[in-house]
Amino acid sequence: MPQQNVTAAGGRRYVPPGRPSAPSQLDFPPVRNGIDYLASVVEHLDENESAVGPRDLKYAVLHLQAAAEVLLKARLLHEHWSLVFKDPGIATRKAFENATFDSCSTTAAVARLRDIVGITIDKKETDALVALAKDRNALQHYGLTHNAAAVEARAGRVLDFLMSFLNEQLLPLLRGPEQEAASRDMILVELGVRNISSYVQLRLNRLRGELKGLERQTIRCPDCEQMTLVVTTGGGDCRFCGASWSSGESFASDYLRGLDEPDDLAELCPQCDEYALVKGVAFVDSPAVRDMLHCFSCTARYTPEELVSCAGCSRSWPLEADVEGADATLCTDCRERAEPEEIA
Ligand SMILES: [Zn+2]
Ligand SMILES: [Zn+2]
Ligand SMILES: [Zn+2]
Repeated sequence: MPQQNVTAAGGRRYVPPGRPSAPSQLDFPPVRNGIDYLASVVEHLDENESAVGPRDLKYAVLHLQAAAEVLLKARLLHEHWSLVFKDPGIATRKAFENATFDSCSTTAAVARLRDIVGITIDKKETDALVALAKDRNALQHYGLTHNAAAVEARAGRVLDFLMSFLNEQLLPLLRGPEQEAASRDMILVELGVRNISSYVQLRLNRLRGELKGLERQTIRCPDCEQMTLVVTTGGGDCRFCGASWSSGESFASDYLRGLDEPDDLAELCPQCDEYALVKGVAFVDSPAVRDMLHCFSCTARYTPEELVSCAGCSRSWPLEADVEGADATLCTDCRERAEPEEIA
Protein backbone atom coordinates (compact mmCIF):
# COMPACT_ATOMS: atom_id res chain seq x y z
CA MET A 1 0.00 0.00 0.00
CA PRO A 2 1.35 3.42 -0.82
CA GLN A 3 1.77 5.81 1.98
CA GLN A 4 -1.30 8.02 2.07
CA ASN A 5 -0.37 10.64 4.59
CA VAL A 6 0.84 13.61 2.61
CA THR A 7 2.37 15.48 5.51
CA ALA A 8 3.91 12.45 7.24
CA ALA A 9 7.18 12.31 5.30
CA GLY A 10 9.48 14.33 7.51
CA GLY A 11 6.54 16.23 8.97
CA ARG A 12 7.19 19.08 6.56
CA ARG A 13 4.60 21.67 5.81
CA TYR A 14 4.08 23.27 2.49
CA VAL A 15 5.82 26.64 2.39
CA PRO A 16 4.14 28.69 -0.29
CA PRO A 17 6.40 30.48 -2.72
CA GLY A 18 5.72 34.08 -3.62
CA ARG A 19 7.78 36.17 -1.24
CA PRO A 20 10.70 37.66 -3.15
CA SER A 21 13.26 35.90 -0.93
CA ALA A 22 11.47 32.52 -1.01
CA PRO A 23 13.48 29.94 -2.96
CA SER A 24 11.75 28.40 -5.96
CA GLN A 25 11.65 25.02 -4.25
CA LEU A 26 8.87 22.56 -4.87
CA ASP A 27 7.31 20.96 -1.84
CA PHE A 28 8.57 17.42 -1.76
CA PRO A 29 6.07 15.16 0.04
CA PRO A 30 3.30 15.39 -2.60
CA VAL A 31 5.69 14.52 -5.44
CA ARG A 32 7.16 11.57 -3.63
CA ASN A 33 3.70 10.48 -2.55
CA GLY A 34 2.58 10.60 -6.21
CA ILE A 35 5.55 8.48 -7.28
CA ASP A 36 4.67 6.02 -4.52
CA TYR A 37 1.16 5.68 -5.95
CA LEU A 38 2.65 5.09 -9.41
CA ALA A 39 4.87 2.32 -8.01
CA SER A 40 1.72 0.63 -6.76
CA VAL A 41 0.04 1.07 -10.16
CA VAL A 42 2.82 -0.64 -12.11
CA GLU A 43 2.99 -3.40 -9.51
CA HIS A 44 -0.71 -4.14 -10.06
CA LEU A 45 -0.49 -3.98 -13.86
CA ASP A 46 2.67 -6.04 -14.27
CA GLU A 47 1.75 -9.31 -15.97
CA ASN A 48 5.17 -10.79 -15.26
CA GLU A 49 4.23 -11.16 -11.62
CA SER A 50 0.78 -12.65 -12.15
CA ALA A 51 -2.19 -12.17 -14.50
CA VAL A 52 -3.94 -8.82 -14.07
CA GLY A 53 -7.21 -9.69 -12.32
CA PRO A 54 -10.22 -7.43 -11.63
CA ARG A 55 -8.84 -6.60 -8.17
CA ASP A 56 -5.45 -5.57 -9.60
CA LEU A 57 -7.14 -3.37 -12.15
CA LYS A 58 -9.33 -1.80 -9.47
CA TYR A 59 -6.35 -0.77 -7.34
CA ALA A 60 -4.34 0.26 -10.38
CA VAL A 61 -7.10 2.69 -11.41
CA LEU A 62 -7.69 4.00 -7.87
CA HIS A 63 -3.99 4.62 -7.26
CA LEU A 64 -3.41 6.04 -10.73
CA GLN A 65 -6.19 8.55 -10.16
CA ALA A 66 -4.68 9.39 -6.74
CA ALA A 67 -1.28 9.88 -8.41
CA ALA A 68 -2.79 12.12 -11.10
CA GLU A 69 -4.49 14.31 -8.49
CA VAL A 70 -1.43 14.63 -6.27
CA LEU A 71 1.01 15.32 -9.11
CA LEU A 72 -1.13 17.77 -11.10
CA LYS A 73 -1.87 19.68 -7.91
CA ALA A 74 1.79 19.67 -6.86
CA ARG A 75 2.56 21.62 -10.02
CA LEU A 76 -0.36 24.00 -9.40
CA LEU A 77 0.86 24.55 -5.82
CA HIS A 78 4.23 25.54 -7.17
CA GLU A 79 2.52 28.23 -9.24
CA HIS A 80 0.29 29.48 -6.41
CA TRP A 81 -1.39 27.78 -3.45
CA SER A 82 -4.81 29.26 -4.25
CA LEU A 83 -4.92 27.34 -7.56
CA VAL A 84 -5.75 24.04 -5.83
CA PHE A 85 -8.97 25.50 -4.42
CA LYS A 86 -12.18 24.58 -6.20
CA ASP A 87 -12.90 28.32 -6.28
CA PRO A 88 -9.60 30.28 -6.08
CA GLY A 89 -11.68 33.47 -5.74
CA ILE A 90 -12.63 32.60 -2.15
CA ALA A 91 -9.30 30.99 -1.19
CA THR A 92 -7.85 31.95 2.20
CA ARG A 93 -4.46 31.17 3.71
CA LYS A 94 -6.15 29.91 6.86
CA ALA A 95 -8.26 27.34 4.98
CA PHE A 96 -5.20 26.29 3.01
CA GLU A 97 -3.03 25.79 6.08
CA ASN A 98 -5.76 23.86 7.92
CA ALA A 99 -6.59 21.88 4.77
CA THR A 100 -10.26 22.76 5.22
CA PHE A 101 -11.30 23.54 1.66
CA ASP A 102 -12.84 21.90 -1.40
CA SER A 103 -10.07 21.25 -3.88
CA CYS A 104 -10.45 21.47 -7.66
CA SER A 105 -11.38 18.53 -9.90
CA THR A 106 -8.94 16.80 -12.24
CA THR A 107 -10.61 18.51 -15.20
CA ALA A 108 -10.17 21.93 -13.57
CA ALA A 109 -6.56 21.14 -12.59
CA VAL A 110 -5.75 20.27 -16.22
CA ALA A 111 -7.41 23.45 -17.50
CA ARG A 112 -5.47 25.61 -14.99
CA LEU A 113 -2.16 23.94 -15.82
CA ARG A 114 -2.82 24.71 -19.47
CA ASP A 115 -4.35 28.19 -19.22
CA ILE A 116 -2.55 29.65 -16.20
CA VAL A 117 0.75 27.79 -15.90
CA GLY A 118 1.11 27.45 -19.69
CA ILE A 119 1.86 23.72 -19.86
CA THR A 120 0.99 21.91 -23.08
CA ILE A 121 -1.45 19.11 -22.39
CA ASP A 122 -3.06 17.95 -25.63
CA LYS A 123 -6.65 16.87 -26.13
CA LYS A 124 -5.87 13.14 -26.14
CA GLU A 125 -4.07 13.44 -22.80
CA THR A 126 -6.87 15.54 -21.34
CA ASP A 127 -9.47 13.03 -22.53
CA ALA A 128 -7.51 10.14 -21.02
CA LEU A 129 -7.28 11.94 -17.65
CA VAL A 130 -11.00 12.74 -17.66
CA ALA A 131 -11.88 9.16 -18.68
CA LEU A 132 -9.72 7.80 -15.87
CA ALA A 133 -11.53 10.00 -13.33
CA LYS A 134 -14.82 8.54 -14.62
CA ASP A 135 -13.47 4.97 -14.43
CA ARG A 136 -12.37 5.63 -10.87
CA ASN A 137 -15.82 6.89 -9.85
CA ALA A 138 -17.55 3.95 -11.54
CA LEU A 139 -15.19 1.49 -9.87
CA GLN A 140 -15.66 3.03 -6.49
CA HIS A 141 -19.44 2.89 -6.68
CA TYR A 142 -20.29 -0.12 -8.82
CA GLY A 143 -17.10 -2.16 -9.18
CA LEU A 144 -15.71 -2.99 -12.59
CA THR A 145 -18.61 -2.71 -15.04
CA HIS A 146 -16.64 -1.56 -18.09
CA ASN A 147 -14.61 -3.69 -20.38
CA ALA A 148 -11.49 -4.47 -18.33
CA ALA A 149 -9.05 -4.34 -21.24
CA ALA A 150 -10.29 -0.90 -22.33
CA VAL A 151 -9.96 0.40 -18.76
CA GLU A 152 -6.44 -1.03 -18.67
CA ALA A 153 -5.60 0.63 -22.00
CA ARG A 154 -6.88 4.00 -20.76
CA ALA A 155 -4.89 3.60 -17.54
CA GLY A 156 -1.79 2.94 -19.67
CA ARG A 157 -2.23 6.25 -21.49
CA VAL A 158 -2.51 8.22 -18.24
CA LEU A 159 0.49 6.40 -16.79
CA ASP A 160 2.47 7.35 -19.87
CA PHE A 161 1.40 10.99 -19.53
CA LEU A 162 2.21 11.17 -15.80
CA MET A 163 5.69 9.76 -16.37
CA SER A 164 6.59 12.54 -18.79
CA PHE A 165 4.79 15.12 -16.63
CA LEU A 166 6.99 14.09 -13.71
CA ASN A 167 10.17 14.15 -15.77
CA GLU A 168 9.46 17.48 -17.47
CA GLN A 169 7.40 19.46 -14.97
CA LEU A 170 8.14 18.22 -11.45
CA LEU A 171 11.56 16.60 -11.04
CA PRO A 172 13.41 19.66 -12.45
CA LEU A 173 11.81 21.77 -9.70
CA LEU A 174 13.25 19.61 -6.92
CA ARG A 175 16.70 20.27 -5.49
CA GLY A 176 19.58 18.28 -4.00
CA PRO A 177 18.79 15.22 -1.90
CA GLU A 178 15.07 15.53 -2.61
CA GLN A 179 15.65 15.29 -6.32
CA GLU A 180 17.99 12.34 -5.79
CA ALA A 181 15.46 10.48 -3.67
CA ALA A 182 12.66 11.11 -6.16
CA SER A 183 14.84 10.00 -9.07
CA ARG A 184 15.69 6.83 -7.17
CA ASP A 185 12.00 6.08 -6.58
CA MET A 186 11.33 6.67 -10.28
CA ILE A 187 13.72 3.90 -11.37
CA LEU A 188 11.38 1.27 -9.97
CA VAL A 189 8.37 2.83 -11.66
CA GLU A 190 10.16 3.12 -15.01
CA LEU A 191 11.12 -0.54 -14.84
CA GLY A 192 7.50 -1.47 -14.17
CA VAL A 193 6.26 0.68 -17.07
CA ARG A 194 8.65 -1.12 -19.42
CA ASN A 195 7.28 -4.47 -18.25
CA ILE A 196 3.74 -3.31 -18.97
CA SER A 197 4.52 -2.04 -22.46
CA SER A 198 6.45 -5.18 -23.33
CA TYR A 199 3.40 -7.12 -22.22
CA VAL A 200 1.20 -5.07 -24.56
CA GLN A 201 3.67 -5.70 -27.38
CA LEU A 202 3.62 -9.41 -26.66
CA ARG A 203 -0.16 -9.54 -26.93
CA LEU A 204 -0.09 -7.54 -30.16
CA ASN A 205 2.44 -9.95 -31.63
CA ARG A 206 0.23 -12.86 -30.66
CA LEU A 207 -2.77 -11.15 -32.28
CA ARG A 208 -0.91 -10.62 -35.54
CA GLY A 209 -1.55 -14.27 -36.49
CA GLU A 210 -5.25 -14.04 -35.66
CA LEU A 211 -5.60 -10.85 -37.74
CA LYS A 212 -3.75 -12.21 -40.77
CA GLY A 213 -5.94 -12.08 -43.87
CA LEU A 214 -8.24 -9.49 -42.23
CA GLU A 215 -6.05 -6.44 -43.11
CA ARG A 216 -8.74 -5.06 -45.45
CA GLN A 217 -11.21 -5.00 -42.53
CA THR A 218 -8.91 -3.93 -39.71
CA ILE A 219 -8.83 -0.36 -38.34
CA ARG A 220 -7.79 1.50 -35.17
CA CYS A 221 -10.01 0.89 -32.15
CA PRO A 222 -11.46 4.09 -30.62
CA ASP A 223 -11.37 2.50 -27.15
CA CYS A 224 -7.85 1.05 -26.87
CA GLU A 225 -6.23 2.80 -29.88
CA GLN A 226 -4.69 -0.41 -31.22
CA MET A 227 -4.97 -1.38 -34.90
CA THR A 228 -6.97 -4.45 -33.95
CA LEU A 229 -10.59 -3.58 -34.66
CA VAL A 230 -12.19 -5.83 -37.26
CA VAL A 231 -15.18 -4.28 -39.02
CA THR A 232 -18.06 -6.36 -40.37
CA THR A 233 -21.46 -5.40 -41.83
CA GLY A 234 -23.34 -3.41 -39.17
CA GLY A 235 -20.61 -3.55 -36.53
CA GLY A 236 -17.20 -4.68 -35.46
CA ASP A 237 -15.15 -6.09 -32.62
CA CYS A 238 -11.72 -5.30 -31.26
CA ARG A 239 -9.51 -8.32 -30.77
CA PHE A 240 -7.23 -6.47 -28.35
CA CYS A 241 -9.69 -4.97 -25.86
CA GLY A 242 -12.88 -6.83 -26.72
CA ALA A 243 -14.96 -3.69 -27.40
CA SER A 244 -17.73 -4.39 -29.90
CA TRP A 245 -20.43 -2.51 -31.78
CA SER A 246 -23.63 -3.75 -33.36
CA SER A 247 -25.06 -0.55 -34.85
CA GLY A 248 -23.39 1.21 -37.75
CA GLU A 249 -24.44 4.71 -36.72
CA SER A 250 -23.30 4.52 -33.07
CA PHE A 251 -20.12 2.79 -34.24
CA ALA A 252 -19.48 5.72 -36.61
CA SER A 253 -20.01 8.35 -33.90
CA ASP A 254 -17.75 6.50 -31.42
CA TYR A 255 -15.09 6.28 -34.08
CA LEU A 256 -15.31 10.01 -34.81
CA ARG A 257 -14.96 10.74 -31.10
CA GLY A 258 -11.80 8.62 -31.09
CA LEU A 259 -10.44 10.59 -34.05
CA ASP A 260 -10.59 13.78 -31.99
CA GLU A 261 -13.36 15.05 -34.27
CA PRO A 262 -16.36 14.84 -31.94
CA ASP A 263 -18.12 17.65 -33.81
CA ASP A 264 -17.89 15.93 -37.17
CA LEU A 265 -20.96 13.97 -38.20
CA ALA A 266 -21.03 10.81 -40.22
CA GLU A 267 -22.25 11.33 -43.79
CA LEU A 268 -25.05 9.62 -45.67
CA CYS A 269 -23.62 6.48 -47.28
CA PRO A 270 -24.31 6.23 -51.06
CA GLN A 271 -24.70 2.49 -50.80
CA CYS A 272 -26.90 1.85 -47.76
CA ASP A 273 -28.42 5.34 -47.09
CA GLU A 274 -27.40 5.33 -43.41
CA TYR A 275 -25.54 8.14 -41.68
CA ALA A 276 -22.48 5.97 -41.13
CA LEU A 277 -19.94 7.13 -43.73
CA VAL A 278 -16.81 8.52 -42.04
CA LYS A 279 -13.78 10.20 -43.60
CA GLY A 280 -10.27 9.56 -42.28
CA VAL A 281 -10.44 5.84 -41.52
CA ALA A 282 -7.02 4.18 -41.84
CA PHE A 283 -7.00 0.49 -42.67
CA VAL A 284 -4.11 -1.89 -41.99
CA ASP A 285 -3.89 -2.75 -45.71
CA SER A 286 -3.74 0.90 -46.85
CA PRO A 287 -2.21 3.04 -44.11
CA ALA A 288 -1.07 5.60 -46.69
CA VAL A 289 -4.63 6.52 -47.70
CA ARG A 290 -5.32 8.78 -44.76
CA ASP A 291 -8.67 10.10 -45.95
CA MET A 292 -10.32 6.79 -46.73
CA LEU A 293 -14.10 6.93 -46.39
CA HIS A 294 -15.68 3.93 -44.74
CA CYS A 295 -19.30 3.09 -44.05
CA PHE A 296 -19.65 1.62 -40.55
CA SER A 297 -22.98 0.13 -41.55
CA CYS A 298 -22.50 -1.64 -44.90
CA THR A 299 -18.65 -1.55 -45.00
CA ALA A 300 -18.55 0.28 -48.37
CA ARG A 301 -15.18 1.97 -48.71
CA TYR A 302 -14.04 4.83 -50.98
CA THR A 303 -10.94 6.91 -51.56
CA PRO A 304 -11.72 10.67 -51.67
CA GLU A 305 -11.14 10.69 -55.45
CA GLU A 306 -13.89 8.14 -55.98
CA LEU A 307 -16.60 10.43 -54.58
CA VAL A 308 -18.05 13.74 -55.73
CA SER A 309 -20.48 15.99 -53.95
CA CYS A 310 -23.87 15.76 -55.77
CA ALA A 311 -24.67 19.05 -57.53
CA GLY A 312 -28.34 18.62 -56.55
CA CYS A 313 -28.36 17.62 -52.88
CA SER A 314 -24.63 17.78 -52.03
CA ARG A 315 -24.44 14.26 -50.60
CA SER A 316 -21.28 12.28 -51.41
CA TRP A 317 -21.78 10.14 -54.46
CA PRO A 318 -19.50 7.79 -56.44
CA LEU A 319 -18.27 9.19 -59.75
CA GLU A 320 -19.77 7.12 -62.54
CA ALA A 321 -17.62 6.71 -65.63
CA ASP A 322 -20.50 5.79 -67.94
CA VAL A 323 -22.63 8.85 -67.13
CA GLU A 324 -21.84 11.85 -69.30
CA GLY A 325 -22.29 15.62 -69.07
CA ALA A 326 -23.96 17.44 -66.21
CA ASP A 327 -25.62 14.23 -64.96
CA ALA A 328 -22.22 12.88 -63.90
CA THR A 329 -22.31 15.19 -60.86
CA LEU A 330 -25.80 14.11 -59.73
CA CYS A 331 -26.78 11.26 -57.44
CA THR A 332 -29.37 8.75 -58.68
CA ASP A 333 -32.23 10.45 -56.83
CA CYS A 334 -31.43 13.90 -58.18
CA ARG A 335 -30.93 12.50 -61.69
CA GLU A 336 -34.34 10.81 -61.61
CA ARG A 337 -35.92 13.99 -60.32
CA ALA A 338 -34.32 15.96 -63.14
CA GLU A 339 -35.31 13.66 -66.00
CA PRO A 340 -39.13 14.05 -66.14
CA GLU A 341 -38.71 17.82 -66.34
CA GLU A 342 -36.48 17.42 -69.37
CA ILE A 343 -39.13 15.34 -71.15
CA ALA A 344 -42.00 17.70 -70.31
ZN1 LIG B 1 -9.87 -1.96 -28.73
ZN1 LIG C 1 -23.21 2.10 -46.17
ZN1 LIG D 1 -28.30 14.35 -55.06
